[in-house]
Amino acid sequence: MLFPFLIISDLVFLGMGAVLFKESIHEQEKRATWIGFLFMLIALALMAAIIWVPMARLPLGIVFGLAAVGGIIFCIPGPQNPRALKGAIGYAVGVIERLDESFSVFVRCRGLREGSREYKTFYTANPELEEPDKERRKKGLLGKLGKIDAGYQPNSAMVHAAFEMDDFLGEYAISDPFENTPEADLDPVKATRIVKNLGKHLGAEMVGICELNEAWIYAKRGEIHFGNYEDWGKELKDLPKYAVVFITEMEREHVMSAPHTPSVVESAVNYARGAHISTILGRWFAHMGYRGIAENTRNYDVILPPLAADAGLGEVGRHGYLIAPKFGARVRIFATLTDMPLIPDKPISLGVEEFCRKCMKCADSCPSRSITTGDMTVCRGFEKWKLDEDSCFAYWARVGTDCSICMAICPYSRPDSYFHKFIRWFVAHSPAAKAVFPYIDNFIYGKRWKARKVPEWLSYPKRSEAEDYPTTLNDDHY
Ligand code: SF4
Ligand code: SF4
Repeated sequence: MLFPFLIISDLVFLGMGAVLFKESIHEQEKRATWIGFLFMLIALALMAAIIWVPMARLPLGIVFGLAAVGGIIFCIPGPQNPRALKGAIGYAVGVIERLDESFSVFVRCRGLREGSREYKTFYTANPELEEPDKERRKKGLLGKLGKIDAGYQPNSAMVHAAFEMDDFLGEYAISDPFENTPEADLDPVKATRIVKNLGKHLGAEMVGICELNEAWIYAKRGEIHFGNYEDWGKELKDLPKYAVVFITEMEREHVMSAPHTPSVVESAVNYARGAHISTILGRWFAHMGYRGIAENTRNYDVILPPLAADAGLGEVGRHGYLIAPKFGARVRIFATLTDMPLIPDKPISLGVEEFCRKCMKCADSCPSRSITTGDMTVCRGFEKWKLDEDSCFAYWARVGTDCSICMAICPYSRPDSYFHKFIRWFVAHSPAAKAVFPYIDNFIYGKRWKARKVPEWLSYPKRSEAEDYPTTLNDDHY
């Protein structure tokens, strides 16, 4: 009995090493490739010992036996996180205070024109922010586009071109029902099926639906894109009842170049994709006799990560990004709000909160130390990991991209291969896996960030070898 048990156990160990080795080469994970290789060598050495050194069999039987018991413990499912299963509202712990959009460092630095009514109103109420914001504006809030790659023109031009799509479409974000178009009498189940399939057909990877919780609506309008300054400071209210929330996947190979220009190209392209999909959905609702409000980078009425959690698209991680089932943090979120009756989805738990408590990889690798290594804190009545947006954006200005290192290094952002699907399943269901896998992940993959190679068509010159490309300020975009 002992001999076949040892042979089978060792073959399993060898197989695990081989899978890790193969997947890690493909993923450009050097440390994990070496560890996979080492596992295979150890497994082969153990195989030799099992076959040719009989006295080694008993101790190896004990080791493999303990490993098998450990494996069984990993397979025991436990209860899922009850807070996550309630959606983002599961993290409410006190009086909920809605966020005023005008406080975002982005919004106030690019939207408040010196000498204007809104400038005076904002800085009279918040005098301590005036001087630091002036300094930021002088340097350029987001610096020179693509600065880290000397503004490499082909990639910077892709960013400009993609964000221009958002500008073109942004004017059509709000669609009222078209004249002489009565509300279509559509069964909500059928309407839900149509709208989800339309979203996917247009390029969304996942589409979820939720009722719009007021907590995620900005308290006041702060961002002005199309000259409608009279809207600044107005309360946002009377929005539609339902939100069709969707995500687009960001190409992993491009994100893994973070913080270099291919990663910001990928962000920009996805913003354009989301603007396109959300606008078509909004226009479809209008043609069906209902309001349709596209939530994309040129029109935000709502905060999207908690809305996506409510719509069953994932959980919010320590870095503040949504973590979606197949793609982790490599997603962009968009929504279209409507009054058309639809069937809401249920929030899901992927084990993110428990995993993030121990992992901390994003916080440890953040170049500006903007992600906390501490516990969740209460912010406007909700428990969350608070991100220091000001220092994060200051780093964006230094490199001239949207950084994205935290998105790239997150273990959930790995490819949706069978190997990672298997691991994700354990993390979502097994309390033992939630407790131990963050440490195993850090051991196998390490915590230090290094940008990976990108496909040749996106590759950028080394800074020292770069020509002096004409660079432009980033600030009109994002
Ligand atoms: S890197 Fe780790 S701590 Fe950060 S969000 Fe991802 S899983 Fe959570
Ligand atoms: S985007 Fe970069 S600077 Fe900002 S929190 Fe993530 S890792 Fe830190």
